Amino acid sequence: MRAVDVIIKKRDKKELTHEEIHYFVKGISSGEIPDYQVSAWAMAILLNGMTPHETTDLTLAMAQTGEVLDMHDVVDIAVDKHSTGGVGDKTSISVLPIVAACGLSVGKMSGRGLGFSGGTLDKLESIPGYRCDLTTEEFIAQLKNIGIVLSGQSKDLAPADGKLYALRDVTGTVQSIPLIASSVMSKKIAAGAHAVVLDVKVGDGAFMKTLEDARELADLMVQIGELAGRKVVALLSDMNQPLGNAVGNALEIREAIDMLQGGGPEDFREHCLHVSAHMLVLGERAKDLAEGREMSERAIEDGSAFEKLRILVKAQAGDVTFVDDSDKFPKAEFVEVVESPRSGYLDRVQARIVGEAAVTLGAGRAKKGDPVDHAVGFVIHHKVGDKTEKGQPLFTIHANNEKLLEEVRQSILTAHSWNDVPVPALPLFYE
Ligand code: URA
Repeated sequence: MRAVDVIIKKRDKKELTHEEIHYFVKGISSGEIPDYQVSAWAMAILLNGMTPHETTDLTLAMAQTGEVLDMHDVVDIAVDKHSTGGVGDKTSISVLPIVAACGLSVGKMSGRGLGFSGGTLDKLESIPGYRCDLTTEEFIAQLKNIGIVLSGQSKDLAPADGKLYALRDVTGTVQSIPLIASSVMSKKIAAGAHAVVLDVKVGDGAFMKTLEDARELADLMVQIGELAGRKVVALLSDMNQPLGNAVGNALEIREAIDMLQGGGPEDFREHCLHVSAHMLVLGERAKDLAEGREMSERAIEDGSAFEKLRILVKAQAGDVTFVDDSDKFPKAEFVEVVESPRSGYLDRVQARIVGEAAVTLGAGRAKKGDPVDHAVGFVIHHKVGDKTEKGQPLFTIHANNEKLLEEVRQSILTAHSWNDVPVPALPLFYE
């Protein structure tokens, strides 16, 4: 078999066989198929799609390029969560410690930034020393010992997805239902979770722009999960405006810490409580969502969730003094507060523009392997539906380059628009 023939077949809109998909995925993982052919194949999939059958084959093939863990011997029930990617989405960093503090073991394999959407690993690496490269043995031992792991793909776990993901980030091939579904679910299957909560984002700042597409992606992932014997719940959540206020690696970690200490923006807190309630129900620690929510709120109030974050950071060699004193996080050289140019009711804060501008500032990557700047990003002070007065702070830019600061100021201003009459707030969840 030749890689070029598999690419041509997909280019010509034909269905790939099980053997062709396994051959290609193996080649990605071993490095035998070069990046340019992998990128061309990803683009052919993005343009021509895959059948559910092909997507399931792709998922299982990627999961099988490394070890597929079985957590039955490690914990009674391991629950995982995954977001399909959004702007300001630092949910995992708050939710994992909350549910772990409620006695539910969580072992999560996260990703890096993808296109305009931020990545949990890039955010976590704002904490000096934090290791995202745990080996399989370390992953299992930590889950057993402290009931919480937040790491990246090791060379042992779904390595083909790790490689494909890094290429998709910089080749315009993120926005594809089969590629997202297989990327998310291969990691979930490889990490051995018994149950998974999928946070499927929908809207301008998500890869799925419409509820219809988000539903299709959610259904496909639930199907694949069930086929692999996992319990899966998918939530469709809003991504038409950034989640919370902070966008950018260290800024988001600070907001996630703040939330665990009882602060943080209301929408972010509500979002996290809803996701954690679902995880607690799926993990059989709460009988229903109301109890799951109550348990989560208690874990924040009594400090046990924050303590779990400290334990996690210490276990993964991060400098826990940054968690204790978030003023220690790296700061950008230029910090500028931009005022509202008019009074009125905000009717749009376009997440996509904010996410792209954060990448422009250096929070994401232009080329595979580029370093990210942990200090840069934005604090967006208002939500859709808020009334702002002319001259009131609208957003704050954190930049390390004056020219780029000038560039993004205008784009973030245009991301905001107003109405003279009251505008309803956006829902947090659709389904
Ligand atoms: N998260 C993933 O892990 N993969 C994607 O493709 C999108 C979001």
